[in-house]
Amino acid sequence: MCLKKNYFLQNIQKKDSLFYLYDRKKETPIIAEKVLVAPGGKADPRHYQWLHDLGHSIVPPIPSLFTFHIEDQELHKLQGISVTARIQAFSTEVEGPLLITHQGFSGPSVLKMSALKAREAFASNYQFPIRINWTLGTLPQILEALQEWKVREGKKMVPSHPLFGLPKRLWQYLSQGLNKKWGEITKKELLDLSKRLVASEFEVIGKSMFKEEFVTAGGVSLKEVDFRRMESKIIPSLFFAGEVLDIDGLTGGFNFQAAWSTAWAASQAIFSEER
Ligand SMILES: Cc1cc2nc3c(=O)[nH]c(=O)nc-3n(C[C@H](O)[C@H](O)[C@H](O)COP(=O)(O)OP(=O)(O)OC[C@H]3O[C@@H](n4cnc5c(N)ncnc54)[C@H](O)[C@@H]3O)c2cc1C
Repeated sequence: MCLKKNYFLQNIQKKDSLFYLYDRKKETPIIAEKVLVAPGGKADPRHYQWLHDLGHSIVPPIPSLFTFHIEDQELHKLQGISVTARIQAFSTEVEGPLLITHQGFSGPSVLKMSALKAREAFASNYQFPIRINWTLGTLPQILEALQEWKVREGKKMVPSHPLFGLPKRLWQYLSQGLNKKWGEITKKELLDLSKRLVASEFEVIGKSMFKEEFVTAGGVSLKEVDFRRMESKIIPSLFFAGEVLDIDGLTGGFNFQAAWSTAWAASQAIFSEER
């Protein structure tokens, strides 16, 4: 086997049963009977041009697994706080750990939402509304709990006593404007606070920078790949592995696993015929 360093593939052509691989410097092409394509994922469609030219359909590549930017200086001051919450966006709900950052929201629940709704978020130019339920309860449940608290603890100050297990600084953010005793809170204020606790509304105005993105959704269409061999159904002896395929998973190692498993299947197919 020959290992070529600093080799950047620019184009592949197939003539008769042989592949001709051209690099960026346009040196003499490498000639091969079989090729395994594993350049990873790139959210720039131009990187897939040579695969498209070979006859493969490319599902438009877009970023997945990104964090949400929110313009709210008071929220940013809470960076580092993590709670279990339920996020709603694009009519989908995700429950799990939510991390407040210096730019907005991150954490497993946000990354999962970004993966599930990567196409919708891309189409919205990463500007879309989200709702956060900080308590996991329903509006009637939370309102009832607050009403009971008001009756029982009327002399206590609202900001000083976080409820529902929320961190104190987050509680103070959510109850801002209520610097008074529980007993002095009006019915409307109680309802508004309940609504904020179960459905705080935020506008996402962007996502994390490109280099922080973890994975690309889209790539070589799976319909055109024989999954038993990871071989192209369009061009025999052309194999695929990893993120170049239209596969993207949630965080937790699923993308690595997809890359390893597809590479293993492809290598078995390639070398089984050699032996
Ligand atoms: C910051 C970060 C964190 C991540 N964390 C996780 C995680 O925790 N869990 C998880 O499951 N996944 C994670 N991922 C995703 C995971 O790394 C990828 O899904 C996986 O590495 C894909 O493997 P691959 O071999 O297909 O591509 P890559 O690992 O991207 O390898 C592709 C290789 O091909 C080379 N290449 C590309 N184009 C050409 C060309 N034209 N010519 C020659 N060489 C080329 C590249 O330089 C690169 O070395 C993370 C990704 C990033 C960026």
